[in-house]
Order: sequence, then structure tokens, then C-alpha cells
Amino acid sequence: MFSGRALESLGEFGLIERIEERLRRVPAFPFMSLLKGIGDDAAVFRPREKGSFLLTSDLLIEGVHFKLEYEPLETLGYKALAVNASDIGAMGGEPWGFLLALALPQDFSQDALEKLFLGMASFQEAYPCLALGGDTSKSPSGMMICVTFLGWQPAPSRLLTRDGAREGDRILVVGMPGKAALGLKYLQRFGPSAWNHPEGRPYVEAYLKPTPPIPLAREIAQRGFAHAAIDTSDGLVQDLGHVARLSSLQALLNLDALPLEKLKAASEGLGIQAEGLALSGGEDYGLVLAVPGEFVGEIESLGRKWGIEVYDAGRFERGKPGVWVCQKDKEPFQLKKGGYEHFRDEAPPL
Ligand code: ADP
Ligand code: MG
Repeated sequence: MFSGRALESLGEFGLIERIEERLRRVPAFPFMSLLKGIGDDAAVFRPREKGSFLLTSDLLIEGVHFKLEYEPLETLGYKALAVNASDIGAMGGEPWGFLLALALPQDFSQDALEKLFLGMASFQEAYPCLALGGDTSKSPSGMMICVTFLGWQPAPSRLLTRDGAREGDRILVVGMPGKAALGLKYLQRFGPSAWNHPEGRPYVEAYLKPTPPIPLAREIAQRGFAHAAIDTSDGLVQDLGHVARLSSLQALLNLDALPLEKLKAASEGLGIQAEGLALSGGEDYGLVLAVPGEFVGEIESLGRKWGIEVYDAGRFERGKPGVWVCQKDKEPFQLKKGGYEHFRDEAPPL
């Protein structure tokens, strides 16, 4: 399946050397010193400032999270880092370095490897971060990429946790919800050429190369503008539901405040409902925030500064924890399914 020279001639240690060459980045992070990176038994680092460490991990499994028929290896490499960094960003932190566990099939080629690393390096260009180490193995079938990200949050920023929403907080949605899910539909319909589809391209790009709003979240945390945050990875209603339940509040989500017209214009041709995409489409890697009313304007202007859409889409109220979707002249309703859940859902999120 993969063209070019096999990994056999490179071997495990040649592969690790290649990772070191391609992903070594030594940007100046004032808050951390790296004493040992790739090459020893463990990475060693030391914080230079007061703050908190953040640690998160994500698995990408071929056939569950991606299909190589329509997911180029470059964007897969980029995405493997982006989805992890998104979690660090959603806590108000700065992604600093990562461990990379790779399992590759025997027929994986050196060209394919280069593409994967090119994608990872392009993420590092956009969001400077270091490769700290990892592990490498042969896989009996399919690829697996596990990235563990280490992040940092300087004191005395406020951590953006899921459980801090308060009664009366506004629900702010950062990034266009449903964008990536629509991109995936384009890829499933048109294959890799969807990338060149005039209407579909921004959506395909959102799916393949998500841009988590990390600097925006960091500023929100530093300035104490939000009580709670989550990144949107599994669908807006499902992710908002985590904040509502952990904060013991009811979330009243205003569907009319979401950019349905824009989504409709690009989804109608495929016969897909825009509402479903916006409410439960996954993989956006935007944010949902709980924000006191006085800071809504501040966050909207930060959105303009960073060129990211921000939608003021409802509020948190006292009541039975969960998400109610509200629309003008309609009774609020609850979704049976607000997103994807492993083991419960038959179809993978592909
Ligand atoms: P050990 O056998 O002691 O676990 P390894 O041979 O697995 O060591 O790894 C040697 C070095 O290469 C370590 O520093 C490790 O972190 C790094 N390394 C191995 N695989 C990867 C990978 N996929 N990405 C980044 N670094 C890696
Ligand atoms: Mg090891």
C-alpha cells in the first residue's frame, strides 16, 4: 500500500534518528529548561518559573480515527499533535513538549514516514513545541499514533476547568461548530479530491488541519475572563454537556445564535442537515466557554484580534444538569445523542 523504500533498511534506531532530525525544535521557552531530550532513557526538564504542569494523551488508530484512503499522511501527522495541544490549550495552558508512541505496519515506507514527520513539523511551525521522546514498534496491522503532550501554565493564571461554570454565565462557542464534520462528509463523498472542491475546501481543511485557538484560550485564562472551558472534540452538545454536568447546571444552548446559514449553504448540496452538524458534529477543536456577562465583549474582541469566530449562544441556569437546545418560538428540547462515544456507538467516528 505504501510506495517507496521499506522501513527494513532504516530499522527502529534509524527511525528514531530520523524523528530526532525532523522534529527536534529548540525554541526558547522562558519557563522551562530541557536537560535531556530524545536519546536517553527518559527526558529530563526543569521549570524555571512558578506554574502548573498539564499532561494529556490521545490515541489515533487507523480505521477508528482515520482512514488513509482520504487522510493524507502530512495532515495526519499535523493532526496527531493538534488534537493533543488542543486539550492543553483548553485548560489555558501552553503546549510545550510531547512524547510520540508510534506503531507502524511492516510495509510502511520511508517516504510515508517523511510525510508524517513533515506534517508534525508543520504543526511545530505553527505552534512551537518540542519532541521529548517516545516509543516505536511494529504493528501487526494498521497504524497507531499516540501522542502525550506536556503543557505549562504560568502562575497565577486561572486554570480553565470543566467544572467551574456558574449560574448566569453565558455560553460562548469559539470556532464554527460542525465545520470539521462537514469536511469529513466532503471527504467521504469525494475522496481526497474534496480538498479541491470550491465549496468544501474550508471544511475539509478544518477537518484535516484543525487550528485549536490556543493563544486565545491562554489570554482568556491569564485575564480571568472565563469560569470554565472545554475543547470541542466529540460534538458541541456532548462537550457542553460535560461542562453542565460537572458544574451541576443546566445549559440552555441557543441554536439560532449558531452560524447555520453558512453551514447550510455548504451542506445542502450533500443532502446533510446543518443543525445536526452544528449540534453533534465532532473534531472541531474549538472551545466552549462559560463566561460572566461582563467579559463577553472582551472575548469577542479577542476573537477578532485572533481572527476566530465567537458565538454568544446561550446561558447556564440552575436546574437539572444537561443541555437543552432552544430555538425561537419552539419548546426547548434535549438531544438523544450529542456526539460520538466509543464502545456505545456502532459506527466509528469516520
Ligand atoms: P528504551 O529501550 O530505553 O525504552 P528506546 O530504544 O525505546 O529506549 O528509545 C530510545 C530513545 O528514543 C528514547 O529517548 C526515546 O524516548 C526515543 N524514542 C523512541 N521512539 C520514539 C518516537 N517514536 N518518537 C520520539 N522519540 C522516540
Ligand atoms: Mg522505551
